[in-house]
Amino acid sequence: MTATETTFTEPRVFTITCTARAGVDIADLDALAAAVTIAAGAVGVAFCRGPSGAVRGAAPAKRPPQHSFGRQITMGVRCASQPERDVHVKLFGNGTLQIAGCLRADAGYEAAELTCAACGFVAPPVDLVVRMINCGFRASHRLNLAACVGAARGAGLMATYDPCCYSALKLSLFFGLGGDAVPACRCATHCATKKPSNRLCRMVVVSLFESGAIGVSGATTQDHVRRAGDVVRDLVRRCPGARQLADDEVLVRLRQLAGASETAA
Ligand SMILES: [Zn+2]
Repeated sequence: MTATETTFTEPRVFTITCTARAGVDIADLDALAAAVTIAAGAVGVAFCRGPSGAVRGAAPAKRPPQHSFGRQITMGVRCASQPERDVHVKLFGNGTLQIAGCLRADAGYEAAELTCAACGFVAPPVDLVVRMINCGFRASHRLNLAACVGAARGAGLMATYDPCCYSALKLSLFFGLGGDAVPACRCATHCATKKPSNRLCRMVVVSLFESGAIGVSGATTQDHVRRAGDVVRDLVRRCPGARQLADDEVLVRLRQLAGASETAA
């Protein structure tokens, strides 16, 4: 009996977070929040919540009101490039836009443009930067994480698996500033020991679950996503025990073993 080779689905993006700059300083966020144009149609700012907590437009009902709003305006933006779900934009007094909930980077730019237009800013937004791509993919088989963690450490990867604390095997991958071919931190002080803001390498965390679900968080480019996928594929292919046998396969094996011992007897 030959084991079927494990295959993987293409990564699916869950959410992309970006930042951009509106290029203006806002003296009075409350006044601006009161003046934001709420779109009547399918595209534009659907709702806006000012620093005082006052909401205009149709805010999602399921989200409970928060106690602290800080110095920001929160907006839900409907984009033509992403009709599936609203993009959430936070606008700060220094003109920084934080854009969350995008499925594609284009939606991030569209949301920033729509926000600036709704706020009455003359200039379009600038400096759109993708800060985080969270995505995931699936293995065709259940994974034996205990076997995978050994193989990962053997391959020199930073792997943690403590099933009592967390059900996933976590692989920390490091991508150097120059985009090293090998995803590893070679800094004098290992980036894993530094605060996120002080890290020189980009840390991408891959979580492998027994079900075969695989999550990738912290990537900022499609290249990170692709390489994280390569690392997982390599790991599973090179680790003979990585595939968790399904219940019926375990039964078949047991019957074979029982049959073998009867023949031997
Ligand atoms: Zn580093």
